[in-house]
Amino acid sequence: MGTTTDPTNTDESAIDTYEVLIVGGGVAGLSAATFTARASLDTAVITAGESILKRNAHVENYPGFPAGVNPRLLIDMQRSQATRNGADMVHGRVTRLKHVGTADGDLDVSDDARFLATIAGDADTDADAAGNDAAGDAGSGATAATDRTIAAERVIAASWADASYLDPVDPDRREAGSKTYLEDDGDGRTTVEGLYAAGRLAERYHQAVVAAGDGARTAITLIHDAEIPFYHDWVAPEGYFTDRGREVPPGCEEVSETERRARERESIAAMQEYFATPHEDRQRTHPSLVDDDLGRVPGTDR
Ligand SMILES: Cc1cc2nc3c(=O)[nH]c(=O)nc-3n(C[C@H](O)[C@H](O)[C@H](O)COP(=O)(O)OP(=O)(O)OC[C@H]3O[C@@H](n4cnc5c(N)ncnc54)[C@H](O)[C@@H]3O)c2cc1C
Repeated sequence: MGTTTDPTNTDESAIDTYEVLIVGGGVAGLSAATFTARASLDTAVITAGESILKRNAHVENYPGFPAGVNPRLLIDMQRSQATRNGADMVHGRVTRLKHVGTADGDLDVSDDARFLATIAGDADTDADAAGNDAAGDAGSGATAATDRTIAAERVIAASWADASYLDPVDPDRREAGSKTYLEDDGDGRTTVEGLYAAGRLAERYHQAVVAAGDGARTAITLIHDAEIPFYHDWVAPEGYFTDRGREVPPGCEEVSETERRARERESIAAMQEYFATPHEDRQRTHPSLVDDDLGRVPGTDR
């Protein structure tokens, strides 16, 4: 963060400033966060915590899970991946995004900040929404927020197809029934400089793998626009580049065999923990079908 303060601070005279603010911690937003954080951009994800994927009963077409995966676990793992790579999580709903302006008076905002996001903490005390996950990674950094403001140099909108919080910056949009989609250049840039879109809000196909890929694509577009030296986000075995007389390109890493084995062992332990027991959260359905704001189906606790 450009300006470091207590993340629960609501004193608007000290505004946290991130290089990248991501609105929406669903499939697209968490994928984007993993890429921007790994590119060493200060990244925060503001999320209301309710990826639509949580309504799925069992995800059977996401790569890497031959027998499928619990959708709530998949979101937990994605969130943990983003935080392990350095992204901060803030639990809340962005109610307004505006440009930094003269009317902001004596707010202490970094000179580099383009946007100010107003974030309302909501009453949802659902454990997974607050950032706990199957591997006990409450340290995924989610912070229950009351109303607060966060500044950002760049913003990726990866929320649901309701863009009303973007009214003050007024990107080009397309209305389709009750949904609003942001127009973009195909690589995630909207018509507002510094504002990007990913996932459903960018009207991509309604599939998790597409949303994840789109989050990555938008993040890489942003990384290039930020002029961060970047070739690819690759981890290669020691010597892959250097033994051919090449420098390790920016964004890439070479790891020794010892380090590779250590990382593999860590990944095995983490996945064993994630998959040790069934996920504890209730099945979701469409909220119109049950008497529960989040669509939690009664009697589905484990
Ligand atoms: C019943 C059902 C089953 C499905 N099954 C599958 C399947 O089997 N396979 C598959 O590939 N896809 C499936 N999908 C589709 C998949 O869930 C979506 O395509 C995918 O989740 C879209 O990702 P996203 O990141 O765009 O949106 P989401 O994952 O919904 O994420 C959006 C995030 O933005 C947050 N948010 C919204 N507004 C704000 C705001 N103002 N401020 C802060 N945060 C905000 C939400 O809380 C949420 O966390 C299913 C969908 C449904 C409804």
